[in-house]
Amino acid sequence: MAMTKDCVLLNTTLFFLAFLTGSALEANDSVTFSGTQAMEYLEAICELGPRPSGSKGMEKQRELLIRHFQKAGAKVFRQAFRSRDGRTGDWVHMENLIVSWHPDRDDRVLLGVHYDTRPYPDRDRRDPQGVFIGANDGASGVAVLMELADSMLQIKGSVGVDFVFFDAEEYVFEEERDSYCLGSLFFARQYATSRKAGTISHAYRCGVILDMVGDRNLTIWQEQQSVDWPDTRPVVESIWATAKQLKIREFVPRPKYVVNDDHVPLRMTGGIPTCDIIDFDYPHWHTTQDIPANCSAHSLGLVGQVMLSWLQKNY
Ligand SMILES: [Zn+2]
Repeated sequence: MAMTKDCVLLNTTLFFLAFLTGSALEANDSVTFSGTQAMEYLEAICELGPRPSGSKGMEKQRELLIRHFQKAGAKVFRQAFRSRDGRTGDWVHMENLIVSWHPDRDDRVLLGVHYDTRPYPDRDRRDPQGVFIGANDGASGVAVLMELADSMLQIKGSVGVDFVFFDAEEYVFEEERDSYCLGSLFFARQYATSRKAGTISHAYRCGVILDMVGDRNLTIWQEQQSVDWPDTRPVVESIWATAKQLKIREFVPRPKYVVNDDHVPLRMTGGIPTCDIIDFDYPHWHTTQDIPANCSAHSLGLVGQVMLSWLQKNY
């Protein structure tokens, strides 16, 4: 990843700040993850309303995220693309956000989430055309990354980390017609093409997708494909080993479901060994009841602690 003048200046400023405030920024062991703070972020995102691709809510969320991560010292790249609304054929503006920590480092790790919400709660028996807020399916992963932001420049280690917010994971009105994972597929194609052409110098060692990680009754089984693929299996094992060390039993070290999430294009098209962390036993999935009351600070805290500890230990 090319280093720009802006980011040189930013890094110099941060170094100076670190020098001034001394121990606050040096103490790696003091890095913590607050589930309560993450829950506040989740609620703030849900207050923006539904956030499907191309919507007003999505635009507001994007502005909120850019401000949040720039303030925390990251470099934010906007990756725009477009796709058609399956109902009307109209073009819809879509955009992935790439939030880079230490953008000068070529050896990188990717943490990804989708930040769009499904257009309608189509699994809701009473109101399948109702309002879908996506507290767990959408906001939970975003909230975890927002809370991780404060720790990212304090983690010692030589690897750079990118948080990638994928648009259009589920811009789906009709299952038979519309495709999933448009944002991650676009990102993966761009990355693979640029690597092949030699126009970028950075490479991702591995990636992790966080999806539906806020369920108040949290149980995270391993995702089947992530375990089966030989290059992603070590990523899964190191994450579940971290959870075990932290005595977080909500991470169950066995596979249960096959989930076709954003990790599939990242690995199959982008060549990035990416696993999926998802709690797929969520009774409110794609219903009007996917709301903050069915998520918890405790669950977000557990996932955040695992991810922070895993990053600290391995990278
Ligand atoms: Zn969904």
